[in-house]
Parts: sequence; structure tokens; C-alpha cells
Amino acid sequence: MYNHASSTGSAFPAVEFDAAIIGKLSQSGPRYTSYPTADRFQSEFGYGQFLEAVAGLRMRRSTRPLSLYIHIPFCDTVCYYCGCNKIVTKDHSKAATYLDYLKQEIDMQGRLFAGMGKLEQLHFGGGTPTYLSDRQMGDLMAHLHASFEFAPDQQGEYSIEIDPRTVSVERVHSLRKQGFNRISLGVQDFDPDVQKAVNRIQPEAETRAVIDAARDAGFRSISIDLIYGLPKQTMTSMEQTLDKVIAANPDRIALYNYAHLPHLFKPQRRIHEEDLPTPAVKLDLLALCIRRLCAAGYVYIGMDHFAKPDDELAVAQRQGRLQRNFQGYSTRAESELISCGVSAISAVGATYSQNEKTLEGYYEKLDEGRLPVVRGIKLENDDLLRRILIQKLMCNFELSIASIEQSFPIRFSEYFATELQKLKAFEEDGLLIVEPDWITVTPKGRLLIRNICMVFDRYLSQPRLGEAQPLRYSKTI
Ligand code: SF4
Repeated sequence: MYNHASSTGSAFPAVEFDAAIIGKLSQSGPRYTSYPTADRFQSEFGYGQFLEAVAGLRMRRSTRPLSLYIHIPFCDTVCYYCGCNKIVTKDHSKAATYLDYLKQEIDMQGRLFAGMGKLEQLHFGGGTPTYLSDRQMGDLMAHLHASFEFAPDQQGEYSIEIDPRTVSVERVHSLRKQGFNRISLGVQDFDPDVQKAVNRIQPEAETRAVIDAARDAGFRSISIDLIYGLPKQTMTSMEQTLDKVIAANPDRIALYNYAHLPHLFKPQRRIHEEDLPTPAVKLDLLALCIRRLCAAGYVYIGMDHFAKPDDELAVAQRQGRLQRNFQGYSTRAESELISCGVSAISAVGATYSQNEKTLEGYYEKLDEGRLPVVRGIKLENDDLLRRILIQKLMCNFELSIASIEQSFPIRFSEYFATELQKLKAFEEDGLLIVEPDWITVTPKGRLLIRNICMVFDRYLSQPRLGEAQPLRYSKTI
């Protein structure tokens, strides 16, 4: 019998690196920031269906807290590894036009959700949110405060992704005064050769100054993004980058796997393939990062995230409150996610909905007085069941079969007979343990959690119909 309370010998889930198993099982797969995944959204779902979902919440007198995502798509220069939906331009007047439309959308969403729950979570992503000037950001935040009822600073999680190359020490203090209390910095790698190879020159001193300023300004959580698998990365260069990251002492670290997909992402064509680490070196780099970060006291949260034991993310995981949404892991359970901006995805009630992906389309819909929702999906009971199951596995690395049977009218062993059969191969490889009441992912299986969740993804075995979006899955590890 597996002991769930003390399965790792500590309160935190450990992670074990097994190169042979990872090499054997690495494949392309979803990151499960949503289930069903965004490539399953359909164009039959539009503005009308979104309004119905909000009306449904009103009828049920929902008071679930609100979470707001704001997408700023612009960047000054392009990083060659980038696979994001962004617009690279030095013409900052484009941001002014965009902000006019964004505010219209915020007004409309504010009216729709008026009187419902308080806003407890705000996230600015991009692109580069700090492409906006200090004045533009102050103005936008004031607009948001006029449209939504924000929970007090102590209670709310208000975060922004920043590019250290675009902010001064004063700007960091200003962001705190404007209401942000969490900050995440794109670093990727401190090595000058790697930075040159990806067209992102970012002196270490500049990044350190921003981190120090964030601490002085009273940001509650400072997060750093790193990428392994970039051109020119070696074990030696990565050791040095990790020394600097650990010395900078961030509260959270996101360690992403560089997915080289030049046929899908044009900027990546400027990366010289001969500079990329081989698959074997890439795995060694990952192993090195995990070893060094865990030795430095970081807790492995899951997927690509690490956090200090006292960071809210680690605390939420210990208390079984961790969630997964479009921004990755989150401590806010059960909130309605409203997303504003081009290509942004909302999760309201039992629906997902996505905005227009081009600026022209986005502006056109708003000019017609409509929200720019152009695709989405209404979840069926089976989707809701599988979504919870995938969430639990991703966040907690274990699943109580009894709790699923209490929430849904199914007998787990019958409903998921095929899936349980498929899990046997993972069990033989030592990645998980299946018992009558529990499915438990072992430390060895944690890095392959996406592969395990894929077994429960009904859509992966179904043909993709109509205007489904193209598959853009990255390698699971
Ligand atoms: S990585 Fe970030 S800053 Fe670089 S081009 Fe992509 S969105 Fe812009």
C-alpha cells in the first residue's frame, strides 16, 4: 500500500530523473493549461455562447472570485526562440490604438460581471506588458480598478511578466505602486554567447538590478523564467547560469524546454541548428537544472515549475489547493477567468472562449460593439470529469478514485477501463502505482506527467473536425 501522506519522506513531492525512461517516452503532447486543449475549440462557439455562459452564472447567483488576464501583444525586438503570439514593432503608437480597444473590451466585461465575485487575481502577459509606458500602464490599471472590484492587496494576486531590458529601477517601484504584487522576469540564460545566438542581449547586472528593485519595492513573489535546450548552451555554461540564478534567490523558477519548431515559428529559422545541444546533452542539461535547483532548496512543483518551500505555490500544493490554468500553476481555486486582448482565452462556467487572433479582426469586432470572441467550446460532463482528473494529476501527482466517484455518477474502473489498461505500461516502468482507491505518480513519473495525463485525453484518439486549430504540441520533456 502506498502511503499518501508521506510518500516522499517529506511534505514535498520529490522528482527523480531517469534518462532511459525519458528517452523512451518523450513525445509531442499538450501542456494541459486547459482541457479540452485550445486546438479543439470550434468556430461555432462565439459571442452569443459566451453571453449565455455569463447569464448561466448570474442565474446560479455565482459569487466565485474573478481572475483577469490582460494580453499585451507587442515586443520591441524578436527573440529567435519565441513561439508566442506577439507583434514585433518599434512603432509604439500602435500600443495607443490597442489600448483604446482593450479598454472598450474591459468596459464590456466589467459590465457583464458587475455585482458578481471580487477580482482576486490579475495577470498581465504578452508579448511584453512593459512595452507600455509607465503612464499607459497607470492609466490602464486605473481603468481596470474602475471596471472591477479588486480584493485588497494582501488578499489578491496581481502579477506582471516583465522584460528586464525594458524597465528601470524606478519603473519597478512604479509597477508596485500601480498595484502589482508579483513579478516574473524573462531571463532564459545568463551566458552572453547563448544570448547572442537567440537575439536577446540582457546583461546580468541589469537583471540583478531589477530583481533587487522588486525586492525593495515589496513585491511578494519574484519569479525567473529559464529555458534549456537553447543554441550554444553547454553543461559548463548552464552551471554558470544556475550559479547566478541561485545567487539572485528568486521565489519561483520556471524552467522551459526549448521546442525547435521552425516550420511553425518563423523567428526560430534564424537559429543555427548546428548550435543546438544534442538530445542527449539536452537531457543532461535538464538533469543538471533539477539537481542544482533541488539542492539549493527549491521544491519541484510540477511540469516546469520550482518554488521555495514558503512560496504560496508550494504552500498551495501542500494544502491540495494548487490549480492549473492558462498562466501555468495558480493558487486560486474555482475562479472565473476573464481574458482581455487579442488572442486571449477565457474560462467562464463550463466554457472556454478565445478572442480574435489578429489586431484587425479584434478591432473590427469591437467596432461592431461585440466582444471579440471567435471560437471556444462548451464542456460536456465527460470533459468536466476528465478536466478535474487531469488537474489533480498535474497539481498533486495523485488521484483519489473515491473522490471522483463521489463527484460524478460513474464507477471509475468501468468508465476508465481502457485508460487503466493503458496505464499498465507506465506502471511496469515504475512511473505510477494504481490501487483500487488511488492513482499515485511516483517520483520517477513526475517529469512524465504530461504523458500520463494524455492517457485520459479523449480527444487525442479522435479525428479533428472542421476549423480546429493546427496542432502545436511541444515535446513532453
Ligand atoms: S520571447 Fe517574449 S520578449 Fe521575446 S519575442 Fe517572444 S514574446 Fe517578445
